[in-house]
Amino acid sequence: MAASSLVERVREFIDARVIPAEAEVDHAAGAADQVYPPALLELREAARAEGLWNLFLDRRHGGALTPSEYAPLCIEMGRSLAAPASFNCAAPDTGNAEILAARGSDAQRAEFLEPLLEGRIRSAFSMTEPEVAGSDPTTMRTRAVRDGDGWRISGRKWFTTGAEGAGVVIVMAVTDPDGPRHQRCTLFVLPAGTPGLEVVRSIPVLGHDGFPGHCEVRYEDVRAEESMLLGGVGEAFAVAQERLRGGRLHHCLRAIGGAERALELLVARAREREIRGRKLAEYDSVGEAIATSRVEIEGARLLTLDAVAALEAGRPDADRAISIAKIAAPRAGGRVIDRAIQVHGALGVSGDSALTALAREARTQRLVDGADEVHRQVVAKAELRRDG
Ligand SMILES: Cc1cc2nc3c(=O)[nH]c(=O)nc-3n(C[C@H](O)[C@H](O)[C@H](O)COP(=O)(O)OP(=O)(O)OC[C@H]3O[C@@H](n4cnc5c(N)ncnc54)[C@H](O)[C@@H]3O)c2cc1C
Repeated sequence: MAASSLVERVREFIDARVIPAEAEVDHAAGAADQVYPPALLELREAARAEGLWNLFLDRRHGGALTPSEYAPLCIEMGRSLAAPASFNCAAPDTGNAEILAARGSDAQRAEFLEPLLEGRIRSAFSMTEPEVAGSDPTTMRTRAVRDGDGWRISGRKWFTTGAEGAGVVIVMAVTDPDGPRHQRCTLFVLPAGTPGLEVVRSIPVLGHDGFPGHCEVRYEDVRAEESMLLGGVGEAFAVAQERLRGGRLHHCLRAIGGAERALELLVARAREREIRGRKLAEYDSVGEAIATSRVEIEGARLLTLDAVAALEAGRPDADRAISIAKIAAPRAGGRVIDRAIQVHGALGVSGDSALTALAREARTQRLVDGADEVHRQVVAKAELRRDG
């Protein structure tokens, strides 16, 4: 199927099925005894029946599309927070599936990747810790020490998205505290129910504590067999970096989709709301808000698609291009959503509008997978290295 017609099908599915159900999904609670809330399960079954499933999966890993073919679909999915999971294309499952496909053993792929791709389980990626800066993972404290022919892991993580109810958790731990800075950590794949792995709580984010939940997780003397290593000992940063590049671009693409949805809502509201005998759309300030939003969306789109192309082609400036997009797209998204909120008045900040969920997502996108400042450093360093 041509990627362009897939875009139309994904868009139609989102408009007809996902958007009408998104408030119910947003208010659904995460729970250990459910993989997905019922409202989301229905959407997933329908999307799968239409063949709109695992669209993120790269051709190299048995998927149908290339990253640049997936990009417009991912933009569409950004229009609703309930959309990515409807198509089995939600983080952190996407990144976890990619590293399991690229670096997992045959046994790990059979035990975790297959059920992930079939949608029978969810997964979590557990790296950030409360006591040390996530922006400098070389300071991580969670330790894995040798224990006979395996390992014992102890530590505390937080913001492990989706840990509650996940069938598998990939955890990063220090295995060689005195080793070279970027070879100190190792990844372990832990199945749900591993003794000592405890989900302590789900942490509300900007007041939202629903599905999928961003969890505090305690690891207390967790036994991990050698077969649970993902990649080699000391390879955690290298493997995570592979995962993060694509993950960052997915955030950017969804940010563009979120901005598109906000602009759609802004325009619809401006056309129908009347103030002092004139439609809002007739006010200069609203026209300016619409035009500025369109300019910012198109700028973010060009930068992000350039970064997708750079990553796909293995261009030497790919990391710089990704950092530029990661700074630009979530910021553009946040500004467009903010304008849409302003035009909506009180409705814009209420639970009756999709804008509040979009605003929450846009704001957190400036922190996750590298805060803006971290990406600015990457861009600045690249500029400073230039000749002349
Ligand atoms: C909704 C959500 C979901 C998340 N999901 C996951 C997950 O699934 N798994 C996981 O492991 N983590 C997850 N995280 C954590 C996320 O990756 C971290 O929040 C992020 O890496 C930043 O780390 P930190 O919060 O410790 O902030 P810190 O590292 O303490 O940084 C705080 C601030 O310091 C500033 N700063 C940082 N570095 C620099 C610099 N070089 N120069 C100047 N200023 C700087 C920035 O303003 C930054 O925001 C999630 C976070 C959120 C909000």
